Amino acid sequence: MAENKMLKFVSVPRDMPEKRLATARREDFQEIYAEFARDKAAEQSSRCSQCGVPYCQTHCPLHNNIPDWLRLTAEGRLQEAYEVSQATNTFPEICGRICPQDRLCEGNCVIEQSGHGTVTIGSVEKFITDTAWDEGWVQPIRPARERTESVGIIGAGPGGLAAADYLRRAGVQVTVYDRYDRVGGLMTYGIPGFKLEKEIVDRRTKQFEESGVEFVLNCKVGEDISFDAIRGKHDAVLIATGVYKSRDLPDSEHGGVVRAIDYLTASNRKNFGDDVPEYDSGELNAEGKKVVVIGGGDTAMDCVRTAIRQGAESVKCLYRRDRANMPGSQREVANAEEEGVDLVWLSAPKGFECGPEGVKGVHVHKMRLGTPDATGRRMPEKIEGADYLEEADLVVKALGFEPEDLPTLWGVEGLEVTRWGTVRAEFGTGATSLDGVYAVGDIVRGASLVVWAIRDGRDSATAIVNYLDQSASAGVAAE
Ligand code: FAD
Ligand code: SF4
Ligand code: SF4
Repeated sequence: MAENKMLKFVSVPRDMPEKRLATARREDFQEIYAEFARDKAAEQSSRCSQCGVPYCQTHCPLHNNIPDWLRLTAEGRLQEAYEVSQATNTFPEICGRICPQDRLCEGNCVIEQSGHGTVTIGSVEKFITDTAWDEGWVQPIRPARERTESVGIIGAGPGGLAAADYLRRAGVQVTVYDRYDRVGGLMTYGIPGFKLEKEIVDRRTKQFEESGVEFVLNCKVGEDISFDAIRGKHDAVLIATGVYKSRDLPDSEHGGVVRAIDYLTASNRKNFGDDVPEYDSGELNAEGKKVVVIGGGDTAMDCVRTAIRQGAESVKCLYRRDRANMPGSQREVANAEEEGVDLVWLSAPKGFECGPEGVKGVHVHKMRLGTPDATGRRMPEKIEGADYLEEADLVVKALGFEPEDLPTLWGVEGLEVTRWGTVRAEFGTGATSLDGVYAVGDIVRGASLVVWAIRDGRDSATAIVNYLDQSASAGVAAE
């Protein structure tokens, strides 16, 4: 009888790819995890118990066929594993790197629940597609039949690109418009290289170009071209513009107090080798500075770890709740602490101390956790008389993002938004209040995750193809 290669979780312990030492990580913007070796990936995949009802898959926003690609990897059938993996995901190697797996697939693995340590799904997913790239299995899309209809996509982030992928698979002509000079949205200019090296995004961009996707870059819709002009050029339009309006603190417009998105974009641009005057002037550069980052999410963690790599004198992160109640991933917090970041819990900004040269410190309220709010989360309360001054000469505000007011910015009538300002779109299709106009990703959900933007893009592409089919049938019937 053939040996069963699976269910090894009792005898094989959980293992992650090697993590670089913090001392080395602090010196560069390279990713911090190495790749699995082939036999290690097979060994770790073999821990999966091939559940009849795989909770990992249920809790993956893409419903990736995880048990199947784990089994194929354990059996050494990597090309087949890649085919299964890419069928449901435009960017498996990116999700494998940056999904918060502890809250999604891995956090719901039954082996984790039974105390054996989760199957390392994300690392295997990354390994499969990185191998596929190395082996030349990742090829441009060649649809069985080209269609004449075209779709205009506004936004070259993961939501827009996932839709472009599935539309091209269906043979639809695709043009993607973006105000930036590079493709990738926040995968290119938000997320730092130590989580996602930029070559990983670049090789996908080339694949899209070779697949016939046309990119119109440095093109800001609402300024360089109107929304109506895009609608007039295409048979359907997809809005995938993300959310970029930073939440702010009152009275925080001072020299040396900057927004996280500006700070991270400047750092990413510098690492591309671009000319970045605000970095060179020191305005958006932490070198030699006492840095304070305000916020407790993943963006705050990206800022503190960027500041460490830029050579800051000290890096502190102020968060008004405690470790257990912070929104950021615990894995990222641990990485930040290893690299030398000082997490200052139960601390909220009260105001800024400024001199002629700019900011000199942050006045801090010490907090404690009080009674739970309507969501059950304990509310932070001020401790009277415990305020203090945290010295700083660069303060980064990482308090989250909100949508811009698209109907006003673009002068579009009839595009409905929700009370939070996100575009109102039908669940499962992304259809908006305008005929033939769809919306996906953060501009619909509010600030979310790459994997959810991919899911939306995939769903919306299916809906758009149906819409094009129906429009074509209606056209034939009218003739
Ligand atoms: P975006 O990626 O924001 O792309 C939108 C694109 O639209 C941009 O390229 C923008 O230039 C373009 N655009 C906007 N307006 C216009 C216009 N008027 N005309 C033309 N183009 C326009 N998620 C994770 O899953 N894991 C992580 O580790 C993670 N880390 C993050 C770190 C940071 C610092 C930030 C800010 C976010 C992070 N996220 C992470 C969230 C994730 O990046 C987003 O949820 C995801 O990128 C949303 O995809 P999107 O396609 O909706 O929008
Ligand atoms: Fe897990 Fe994300 Fe991959 Fe889904 S896409 S299997 S949630 S890492
Ligand atoms: Fe395998 Fe865990 Fe998924 Fe079960 S839940 S199929 S053990 S990865």
